[in-house]
Amino acid sequence: MAQNGTSVSIQDLSLSFGVISVLHTLNLDVAEGEFVVLLGPSGCGKSTLLNCIAGLLDISEGRIFIKGKNVTWEEPKDRGIGMVFQSYALYPQMTVERNLSFGLRVAGVPKDEIAKRIARAAEILQIEPLLQRKPSALSGGQRQRVAIGRALVRDVDVFLFDEPLSNLDAKLRAELRVEIKLLHRKLQNTMIYVTHDQIEAMTLADRIAVMKGGVIQQLDAPQTIYNRPVNRFVAGFLGSPA
Ligand code: ADP
Ligand code: MG
Repeated sequence: MAQNGTSVSIQDLSLSFGVISVLHTLNLDVAEGEFVVLLGPSGCGKSTLLNCIAGLLDISEGRIFIKGKNVTWEEPKDRGIGMVFQSYALYPQMTVERNLSFGLRVAGVPKDEIAKRIARAAEILQIEPLLQRKPSALSGGQRQRVAIGRALVRDVDVFLFDEPLSNLDAKLRAELRVEIKLLHRKLQNTMIYVTHDQIEAMTLADRIAVMKGGVIQQLDAPQTIYNRPVNRFVAGFLGSPA
């Protein structure tokens, strides 16, 4: 749950791809420790917004703050964020252990510290028996656990998830949904989680930002959105039948 202070602050953010405007003067404050879900139909700009926070896109206008620091022009690696994608993005030629340690080695983290962090992440995510395997020898759910582990070992303040469960079957999706919720309880870090799945949004979020056409239509607790949608779009997408 939200504790104190603002973790991620997005101020008047606009982004265009060429002449096509995708995000329109968007504002969003996420509290420290809060779990915010960005929910909306395909193409509404969820991934674009997440990629802006991660520093993977140059924004057209606006500013992004993380823990009070203006990171608008900071490199992704300097933003204190960890990102988990839909498609795992693991290195196929490396073992799970190598996948987990690679970024830390590059960053010059000492060996014993790396070992400590991998042991902790492996325990939390229950992937200890998998450490010497290659990604090709893992199931989809196991791969996604490793992908989460890669963010976990970096000891970041903010986790960004882009539809991390949408490649999994319904049973695994339900399982990992519970695990992500438990992970958040345990770590108490800030999580911004993109999905088009209403159940994920309702069960995971402290607050849901419902997006349409590059604009946040409503930002509220799940129950508030469900019971008191601000417009027909939100009602149709998530609200109780009017
Ligand atoms: P979502 O994640 O909500 O499905 P995206 O953020 O991926 O939506 O995309 C928002 C809009 O921006 C879509 O219309 C998409 O086609 C467009 N878009 C996304 N990435 C690019 C890009 N690299 N170049 C041009 N248009 C893009
Ligand atoms: Mg997307």
